[in-house]
Amino acid sequence: MLISDKMYELGSKRSVIRDLFEYGKMRVQEVGAENVYDFSLGNPTVPAPNCVNETIIELIKELDSISLHGYTSAQGDLQTRQAIANYLNDTYMTNFKADNFYITVGAAASLSIVLRALMVSPEDEVIAIAPFFPEYSVFVTSAGAKFKMVPPDTKEFQICFEELEKIINVNTKAIIINSPNNPSGAVYSEDTIVKLSNLLKKKSKEIGHDIFIISDEPYREIVYDGVCVPYITKYYDNTIVCYSYSKSLSLPGERIGFVLVPDEVVESKRLYAAVAGAGRALGYVCAPSMFQKVIVKCIGQTGDINIYKKNRDILYDGLTQLGYECFKPSGAFYMFVKALEESDEAFCNKAKEEDLLLVPATGFGCPGYVRISYCVDEEMIKRSFAAFKRLKEKYSS
Ligand code: PLP
Repeated sequence: MLISDKMYELGSKRSVIRDLFEYGKMRVQEVGAENVYDFSLGNPTVPAPNCVNETIIELIKELDSISLHGYTSAQGDLQTRQAIANYLNDTYMTNFKADNFYITVGAAASLSIVLRALMVSPEDEVIAIAPFFPEYSVFVTSAGAKFKMVPPDTKEFQICFEELEKIINVNTKAIIINSPNNPSGAVYSEDTIVKLSNLLKKKSKEIGHDIFIISDEPYREIVYDGVCVPYITKYYDNTIVCYSYSKSLSLPGERIGFVLVPDEVVESKRLYAAVAGAGRALGYVCAPSMFQKVIVKCIGQTGDINIYKKNRDILYDGLTQLGYECFKPSGAFYMFVKALEESDEAFCNKAKEEDLLLVPATGFGCPGYVRISYCVDEEMIKRSFAAFKRLKEKYSS
C-alpha cells in the first residue's frame, strides 16, 4: 500500500456540512440566490472590527519586509504572547505570563497540538460532551487516542454528569469542553463548571492520575444578554485552553489563535515543552507574523455581536411562532431545533426540498435535532420563514 487509507478517507470524504454548502451553491445557480436558505456553515458574516484593517495598513507602511513577513519565534512573538497574557489577566483576574502561551494557526491546530502533546498510549481516552464539534473525533483519533462521547442533556444542553461519571476510567486522559457551544449555542453555567471540576478532582483521585480539561473557546466573546462565561482555569488547575480569533475578530481565513498552559497545570513546564514539540512535529510553528502583530493592537475587540443577537432573536421568534421546538442560544451563532421526525437526516432531506439547508445533528452526537447557523444575512432569515412554514405543513397533513 502506497498511501494511508486513514488519511485517504479523511481527505476524500467531504463533511455533511461541506456537502450541503456545495449543494447550496448549485441551487443558487438553478433557482437564484433569493430562493435558497443556506444555514449550513459557521463562517462569521459580521465584518472584522475596523482596527484590523487599520493595523494592517499601518504595519505595511511602518515595517520593513523582514520585520513584517519574516519568521517569528516558533512559539510566537514575545510581544504577542505578553499582550495576550496582559489582556486575560486584566479581564479575568488571572496571573498568566507570556511563557504560558504558544501561538497557533487557530483552534483546530491548538487542539491537534494539545492532544498530540498529551497522548502516550493507544489506550488513552479523550471524552467529548455531546453535542460536539465533529472534528474532535478526527483530532483525537489522529493523535492516537480513543474518542469517547457523553450523551447530550437535551433539556438545558449542559453536561449529563451521571453519564460522564460512568465513562471516566483509568484510561481517561482528558475531556474536551466547548462553551459557548457549537452546535447548541449553550453556555455552561458556573454551576456546571464547579460540578465538572469537583467530579474530575474526585475521579482523578480514584483512578490515580490527573485528568485534563481541554477548553476549546473560539466563541468565548460571542454571548448575549450579559451571560457570563466562566474562565475555566480559575476553577480547575489542570485546564489547557485552546483559543482562536476566527470568530471573535471574524478572521477565520487568517488562521490565528493560541494554546494556554497555565503554571497550575501538573508538570506545566514539561507539558508546555511537549506542546512546543507537538507544534514542531505537526509543522505548526511560527504562526502568521502579520496577524500576530494585528492581535497585539486589536486584542479585546470583536465584530459587532449585536448583529448576531438580532439574527438570533428574529430566528427564534419566527420558528417558535411556527411551532418549532428551539433551544434559545445564549452564545455562538447556532440554534438547535428539534427535527419534526425521528430521523434528523430524513427531516433535513425534506427541508432540502424547500431549499432550506439545515445540518442534521447526528454528526454532532445528538440525533433528532438540526443545527441552524445564523451568521447569515438577516433578510435571508426573514425570507426563509415561508419555507419553514411549508416544511411544518408537510408534517401536519
Ligand atoms: N472548535 C469549534 C467548536 C469550532 O466551531 C471551530 C470552527 O468552527 C473550531 C474549533 C476551529 O476553529 P479555527 O478556525 O480557529 O481552527
